[in-house]
Amino acid sequence: MAPQIPEKQWAQVVEKKGGPPIYKEIPVPKPGPDEVLLKIKYSGVCHTDLHAMKGDWPLPVKMPLVGGHEGAGIVVAKGELASGVEIGDHAGIKWLNGSCLACEYCKTADEPLCATPQLSGYTVDGTFQQYAIGKAAHVTILPKDLPLDGIAPILCAGLTVYKGLKESNARPGQTIAIVGAGGGLGAMAQQYAKAMGLRVVAIDGGDEKRDVCEKLGSEAYIDFTKSKDLVSDVKAATPDGLGAHAVILLAVAEKPFQQAVEYARPRGTIVAIGMPANAFVKAPVFETVVKMITIKGSYVGNRQDAAEAVDFYARGLIKAPFKTVPLEELPRVFELMDQGKIAGRYVLKMPE
Ligand code: NAD
Ligand code: ZN
Ligand code: ZN
Repeated sequence: MAPQIPEKQWAQVVEKKGGPPIYKEIPVPKPGPDEVLLKIKYSGVCHTDLHAMKGDWPLPVKMPLVGGHEGAGIVVAKGELASGVEIGDHAGIKWLNGSCLACEYCKTADEPLCATPQLSGYTVDGTFQQYAIGKAAHVTILPKDLPLDGIAPILCAGLTVYKGLKESNARPGQTIAIVGAGGGLGAMAQQYAKAMGLRVVAIDGGDEKRDVCEKLGSEAYIDFTKSKDLVSDVKAATPDGLGAHAVILLAVAEKPFQQAVEYARPRGTIVAIGMPANAFVKAPVFETVVKMITIKGSYVGNRQDAAEAVDFYARGLIKAPFKTVPLEELPRVFELMDQGKIAGRYVLKMPE
């Protein structure tokens, strides 16, 4: 029997740039021919959702906007051209809601680089609502035995850091510095890094983040709010004192993007993932050259990366902390996030 789909639903809607999100009833959207409709059970809250509400980036954002791109739920309807996914499947909506599937990047499975993407909770409505739409080709199929609350943050935070770690080219046994390690992406990054055989130096601020990082298995925690010489402290925390083989930049602050080259070891790779507003990556030419440093960006991941990131979770390798609150509480979550007070992730539970 086809699931009952109501006409109206609860959602968090940002009506103008700057917010706040308003909790209100809106119509349930109808899937197009190549789309599926998910009954969202849980959605993680990513810092990107806050950037979107604030209008932080030089990329136009849809208004009014239903944010959210870490949505896990159940397929309740599909268009006639939606293949590879069935009603009743558990599935996830990630940042890349859809892409053209015809350009050079889409054809070579580099679809995050597509010039005409649909972005969940940014250019199309996302997962801070009870029913959300995803392109059938891009939803992530989830094994039915996995908890939808725990898996929601994998759909952006997990996927993004897993891809970033691959892009870092760090090999098992090498040391990775994770900057912003106590946040949503950072907590995941520590778990994926460990599962991939990497040694972790965590950098973040405050004792709550320290506790989280120590529990997640980092070998050292450097508190950027207390360290008198962050560069020396990071180097000293690596086993031979030479610095990190790779640095994963997740912080929502500019300084680390200009400092990382100093604690990366020769031949080290710096991967920029965090996207603080109006910020620049900067490095001294001399050090970059004589240390043969690689600096690169990493942007979410493709469909296969998403499936692999989920598989790590399915095998019990990823246990990042999260707190669950009702959808109604999104404004409070944004407030805490803005103050850098969230250790791990907040996950919103949709009303029944
Ligand atoms: P978050 O707010 O949960 O975590 C950010 C962390 O950075 C916090 O723990 C904060 O204390 C820490 N921090 C702030 N200043 C710091 C400093 N100077 N040194 C070290 N740590 C510092 O955010 P999140 O959800 O983990 O997202 C992080 C960033 O990644 C955001 O900018 C987000 O938009 C971006 N992002 C990028 C991609 C991508 O594909 N590249 C995907 C998802 C998110
Ligand atoms: Zn995200
Ligand atoms: Zn494309």
